[in-house]
Amino acid sequence: MVDLKGQYAKIKNEVDSAIIEVIENTAFINGPQVKSFQKNLESYLGVKHVIPCANGTDALQIAMMGLGLEQGDEVITADFTFAATVETIGLLKLTPVLVDVEPDTFNIDIDALKKAITSKTKAIIPVHLFGQCSNMEAVMDIAKTHNLFVIEDTAQAIGADYTFSDGTKKKAGTIGTVGTTSFFPSKNLGCYGDGGAIFTNDDALAHTLRGMVNHGMYERYYHDVVGVNSRLDTIQAAVLDIKLPHLDSYCDARRNVASFYNKAFAESDKIITPKTGKCNTDTLCADCNCHVFHQYTLRLKGINRADLQAHLNSKGIANAIYYPVPLHKQKAYTDVRYKEEDFKVTNELVDTVLSLPIHTEFDDEQLAYITQTILDFVK
Ligand SMILES: *Cc1c(COP(=O)(O)O)cnc(C)c1O
Repeated sequence: MVDLKGQYAKIKNEVDSAIIEVIENTAFINGPQVKSFQKNLESYLGVKHVIPCANGTDALQIAMMGLGLEQGDEVITADFTFAATVETIGLLKLTPVLVDVEPDTFNIDIDALKKAITSKTKAIIPVHLFGQCSNMEAVMDIAKTHNLFVIEDTAQAIGADYTFSDGTKKKAGTIGTVGTTSFFPSKNLGCYGDGGAIFTNDDALAHTLRGMVNHGMYERYYHDVVGVNSRLDTIQAAVLDIKLPHLDSYCDARRNVASFYNKAFAESDKIITPKTGKCNTDTLCADCNCHVFHQYTLRLKGINRADLQAHLNSKGIANAIYYPVPLHKQKAYTDVRYKEEDFKVTNELVDTVLSLPIHTEFDDEQLAYITQTILDFVK
């Protein structure tokens, strides 16, 4: 699905010497590269505070700890996402409340979100799935009305822009109370192991979070709060600091692949291409990164998905189903309160979506082979 080797080859010299420098300096934990990457990411995102941590799942957990959420508090999130989002809610003994998503953007459905709010609701986690922001204007309005925290799960959308109706643009993850991301190798800004970060413009919250990622210490060996051990490794920070200046061009490369796919499938009535947000509806807008295509996900109509997958596999074309089971049907997260009719969209998506390979190293010949193979099958 990705070509990490091809991407590495282009920055190999820089990356190799940065890694060797960390080893030679032996500042493996909280070395200067961590601070440098933190500062550079803050200015890239236009956010006051970046708190690096060990991975994107920890980022979600620590964000909720930092907000002081407690057992019994309800946290609303999307049914159609990677399990990490709901897993961290469960781990903290908060109550996850899953809601349906929109069929065309795959992001949290605003009406379903409104319906799910109770007197116990404390936070909303919009997941910017596949690289595109949720409807943050509506989410922030709802949060303001009901006095709720907003935790943006930006693991798949780092670098994406969100445009408000007054024209203001903000980076994904910098709109809510707090944003979280992952630097898992295949993510849009991936390191060479695990990594993650939390973003916020709130000074007090940032202070709390910085201690929490390091055993609740604000002064060495003084533990003011219960924390965790979740630090971004210095070697990973060194790699990320080299890759960050390339992030926009990586996003552009992904958008070009998406454009190629969109054009190739435009005529087919059996293939529904992903819709991008309100910046543009049909074509990719030229002046912003409103969708950064962590995944390129099709919806199939009247095509046997398993047969198409077998065909693609036989032609050496990678493909994947993100995600095959809705969270509300997972053994760990199912709940008697859930009614199937409340998850119509997710239930249909899990049976009809198919993600195609997307990465920064494709050439048109490879893309033409993929699209032609699919079109030949679909006809
Ligand atoms: C990848 C991902 C995470 C978790 O990130 P890790 O770094 O793997 O822990 C969380 N949420 C979403 C939506 C993701 O895609």
